[in-house]
Amino acid sequence: MRGFIINIRKAKNEDVIVTVLSNDAIKTYWRFFGARHSILQIGNLVDFEIKESKNNFMPNMRSLSHISFPWIFSKNRLLIWQNFIKLFEPHLRDTIELDSFYFELLLNIAQKWSKQSPKRLAIEAYMKLLNHEGRLYDNGFCYICETILEDKVGLMRAFLPAHPTCIQGDKFDKKDIFKLYSTHSTIHLEDIIVEQLYTILLKGF
Ligand SMILES: [Zn+2]
Repeated sequence: MRGFIINIRKAKNEDVIVTVLSNDAIKTYWRFFGARHSILQIGNLVDFEIKESKNNFMPNMRSLSHISFPWIFSKNRLLIWQNFIKLFEPHLRDTIELDSFYFELLLNIAQKWSKQSPKRLAIEAYMKLLNHEGRLYDNGFCYICETILEDKVGLMRAFLPAHPTCIQGDKFDKKDIFKLYSTHSTIHLEDIIVEQLYTILLKGF
C-alpha cells in the first residue's frame, strides 16, 4: 500500500493513529510505537503493509518505508506542503470510496514542488480539485446576494466570489480570478496576489 500521510493522532502510550490517502481510499491505521518512528510525519509518502488486527479493531501498519522527495530538506517548502496536505483530511474524512484524482494530484505536484513555487502549485491544484468536484462558482454572480459581479471581486473560502461590499477582505480583479477559474493556472498573477489567494486557501477546502 502506498499513500500520503494526511493526519497523525496520538493514541495510547507511544502508539499513533495514522490517516493515509491512497489511490482509492482514505483509511486510518494503528502503528505501534509510531511516536518513535521518524517516517511518520504529515505529508510523507509512505509504502507499507497492512495487518488486520485480531479483534477487528483498526488494521495495523507495518514494514513502513518512506518515498522521499528532494524538497523534504527545505524547511519552507516542507512547511507549505504540510499545511496544504493537512486540508485534505477534514475535507475527505467521511469519504468511503475515493477516486484516484486526489492521490494523482498530490503525486503530480510533489514531483514539481522543488522546482516551482509551492504556493502557486497549491493554488493550481486546488483549482483542479474544485473543478473536479464541480464546485467552481464561475457563473458571474455574487455568492452572497446573487446579483451580477462587477470589475472587482472579493473571495470567500473555497474561492467563492462575492461583491467586496458583501464580504470583507481583499479585492481582486474579476478578470484575473475568472482566468484562474478557467485555466487553473496562476501564471498571469503577481506574487502578491498569489500570497493573498494562498491565505484564502488555508481557510480550508
Ligand atoms: Zn453581493
